Amino acid sequence: MIEAHHPSATGDDDPGAGHPPGDEVREACGVFGVYGPGQQVAELTYLGLFALQHRGQEAAGMAVSDGTNITVVKDQGLVASVFHERTLAGLAGDVAIGHCRYSTTGASNWRNAQPQFRAVGDHQFALGHNGNLTNTEVLARERGMLPGTISSDTDLVAELIADEIEAAVATAGAGTNGRDDDHPGGEPPSLLADAVAAVVPRLEGAFSLVLMDESCVVGVRDPHGFRPLCLGRLDAGWVLASESPALDIVGAHFVRELEPGEVVVIDREGPRSLHPFPPEEVEPRLCLFEFVYFARPDSRLYGMSVHQARIRMGEQLAEQAPAEADMVMGVPESGVPAAEGFARRSGIPLGQGLVKNRYIGRSFISPNQEMRARAVRLKFNPLRENIAGKRLVVVDDSIVRGTTQRQLVRMLREAGAREVHLRITSPPVAWSCYYGIDTGDTNELLAHDLSVDQIRDYLDVDSLAYLELDRLVEATGAAGAGFCDACFTGRYPVEVPVGLRRRVLGQNEQVFGEDVVQPALDGTT
Ligand code: SF4
Repeated sequence: MIEAHHPSATGDDDPGAGHPPGDEVREACGVFGVYGPGQQVAELTYLGLFALQHRGQEAAGMAVSDGTNITVVKDQGLVASVFHERTLAGLAGDVAIGHCRYSTTGASNWRNAQPQFRAVGDHQFALGHNGNLTNTEVLARERGMLPGTISSDTDLVAELIADEIEAAVATAGAGTNGRDDDHPGGEPPSLLADAVAAVVPRLEGAFSLVLMDESCVVGVRDPHGFRPLCLGRLDAGWVLASESPALDIVGAHFVRELEPGEVVVIDREGPRSLHPFPPEEVEPRLCLFEFVYFARPDSRLYGMSVHQARIRMGEQLAEQAPAEADMVMGVPESGVPAAEGFARRSGIPLGQGLVKNRYIGRSFISPNQEMRARAVRLKFNPLRENIAGKRLVVVDDSIVRGTTQRQLVRMLREAGAREVHLRITSPPVAWSCYYGIDTGDTNELLAHDLSVDQIRDYLDVDSLAYLELDRLVEATGAAGAGFCDACFTGRYPVEVPVGLRRRVLGQNEQVFGEDVVQPALDGTT
């Protein structure tokens, strides 16, 4: 989801200015949906969101239908702080969707928390979105929306679907319930599914969606499949989730990943698939960063274990960029399995050099450089007795602005490291992401302007190597399946309009025109 926000006004020229501790790229939302007659769908959704908490920690919400009405509960904060036992107990129903959200600074507000809800006459639906649209302005302009009408791309999608439902009801005529009883194919009619199938081909960019009305759940994956979405089976029901561990936690069996360009409708007849996108537009481009960093290690993407892929990334790094060292250590969390792979392939012993504080959340405020430096120390603390006097290979997943790694290297040297050889399991991040990930602006990215040697000097490491793109793709175990690599290569699978690149949409003053440069269009879900 894209939201509007104003850029940092700190005036601080530190590359990490205005960002939370750690300058890692940040995800971008988790979605969950359950069709479970007779089940405690609110509790299942709560558990599913817990499993997806790593994808978004700023807001959480769920919508539950009792068959007649949809109730939405959402707020800013972690899943555990938004939902309480009493809240869940009051959310009885057969159908639910959930969402956890990350956004950049600015409009992290209640309005942009999801699910989004709409009522069209007697019809209600709710929507959760993971990804970013790239044609929000064009669609808003086509629909004749006035500035300020919508606050996000998700808001726009909800409006477009509401329009379709309204039109379908009007066409069906007064005196009916608006449902299409002559629906072709013999499937149960669904106003929502028909509206979704009519709207999604107009959307461009990244969108994994979950939707629901009073009696069905719908999942959508964009034709490139930028963001993951999978289907699971309960004993008496079905589940949709961004990542497979959310199925495990609710006791659902993994069935399959949704195909890029697939719409799955789940109702009393079970799941059925729609393919509303022109076949020539379907081209799988799963985000490579899901393998590198975002996805849980126990997730499966393209049928492959993410944990095993990260081990292979480390093995590939050891082959590509060996180092003379005494110990290999990973930067928690995603650097740890890669360090295991590096150690295994190189024969250098694996050790633990950093302890990570597991309880530091995104909510930690770091308003200035001094606080940000402390924030890194709050997040990681070196194990001196493991480090002192050693030549270290330090394996990490990516370098974005470099502020975290710079602090880490300083800490390791202060703890007595004799040499620090930094190995990164992805190529240099030199381009912004417009598909649902907050990598920051291109000009904030260390690798956009600096060479590897310059970055090595900036980070004050003895050597630095990034995993080559071919090796990274090979390490996923799914080479040939189709990946987005735009933040490494600048080759964007979906065109990014100039207006989006220039960050056109302001928070309070929304402008749908490419000639007007306003802050900012960089929030994500
Ligand atoms: Fe993922 Fe990078 Fe593509 Fe964004 S640009 S979808 S972060 S690979």
